[in-house]
Amino acid sequence: MNVTTLPKPPRVGLVSLGCPKALVDSERIMTKLRADGYDMSPDYAGADVVLVNTCGFLDSAKEESLEAIGEAIAENGRVVVTGCMGKEAEVIRNRFPDVLAITGPQQYEEVVAAVHEAAPPVPSPFIDLVPEAGLKLTPRHYSYLKISEGCNHRCAFCIIPHLRGDLVSRRPDAILREAEKLVAAGTKELLVISQDTSAYGVDIRHRPRPWKGEEVRAHMTDLSRELGKLGQVPGDVWVRLHYVYPYPHVDNVIPLMAEGLVLPYLDIPFQHASPDVLRRMRRPANDVKVLQRIRNWREQVPDLAIRSSFVVGFPGETEEDVAYLLAWLEEAQLDRVGAFKFEAVEGAPATSMESQVPEDIKQERYEAVMALSARISAEKLAAKVGSTVDVLIDAVDAETGGATGRSKADAPEIDGEVHLRDAGGLSPGDIVSARIEDSDEHDLYGVPLEPVLA
Ligand code: SF4
Repeated sequence: MNVTTLPKPPRVGLVSLGCPKALVDSERIMTKLRADGYDMSPDYAGADVVLVNTCGFLDSAKEESLEAIGEAIAENGRVVVTGCMGKEAEVIRNRFPDVLAITGPQQYEEVVAAVHEAAPPVPSPFIDLVPEAGLKLTPRHYSYLKISEGCNHRCAFCIIPHLRGDLVSRRPDAILREAEKLVAAGTKELLVISQDTSAYGVDIRHRPRPWKGEEVRAHMTDLSRELGKLGQVPGDVWVRLHYVYPYPHVDNVIPLMAEGLVLPYLDIPFQHASPDVLRRMRRPANDVKVLQRIRNWREQVPDLAIRSSFVVGFPGETEEDVAYLLAWLEEAQLDRVGAFKFEAVEGAPATSMESQVPEDIKQERYEAVMALSARISAEKLAAKVGSTVDVLIDAVDAETGGATGRSKADAPEIDGEVHLRDAGGLSPGDIVSARIEDSDEHDLYGVPLEPVLA
């Protein structure tokens, strides 16, 4: 049996100087780096690169910043400088010519890019929340928003709790402040990520924090509602929820979708449907009545798009389990499905389970799931031909006059796209209304109507 050994993530040391605003910037940079798979290093020696977030408010603060850079160079040698003193790059370069990169305050994309260059991230499909293609810096108009780190579950195929520890939720006000800054900087779509979004706040007992004169609980429902209110009018910033386990309280975000505060989209990693396989996988929220709940959700929000991922070939999986999964998928009519063949990962309990499934059988089962989900996807997309959908533009092609974007049913990188013809004058980040003219297994094709938001 092949056992996959996970790569060691690069480690970043952080020296954060200055005011609370600089601290929030540091927090935001580190959140992005953590989402990209970096670990924090508590000391210089263990860091692959050291990030110094400087303060340049007073001469004394500048001197303190220069001393901190000097110490990081002496102790580690691989140093990226950011923050207010970045405006005085010359001063820093004259004193420390070996500094790898210098960026200014709030230049998040640049500083994260500099860290990527100094210590490239090591993508791993087993631990990354963001797909490998997403390791590029996201464009300005959409942003990942990480709300917690770690996980309290112990799924048999997963080593994340071992690597990242138990659930640690961020404060709701810190998340909202970060989201507000992202929106002010041009983000039109917030992609909420964590290992288990429905469990957000459990570790901090959902403790409320003040936000804009009110108390907001550290809870998925409250947080989603407040995120949906960012932007000029409620709902004009798209809020997309990823990694949602179908705990009963997830029912409470469905009305927020009906109100337009949260996108009618749920990314629920079901991983299997057979109760027996789910039990052996030790999956959370393993609810046999989930099909009924999906029906209820769709009654309230008819255009709800559900994406999910499934693992075939888990140890002990029988032909009956696969038949159950296929029948379940036919009934559930999920909009987007990703299938994976079980892979043994070093350190995961499932790796040493008996009754490992041979590779050729895994492949057969994988193809069966992919064929069924492709058919369902094609049918669901064909039903949209002739309708009008809002499209967030990701890219424009000046040569052809076309544009590519996504509907509310499509997350970047993992779902389909909407290809528009005659889309001259549009820019990435525009949201337009489009009439759908054609479809295939994954994508839609159409033409823009009047811009609805710019
Ligand atoms: S819910 Fe399961 S699969 Fe997801 S991170 Fe936690 S232990 Fe891993």
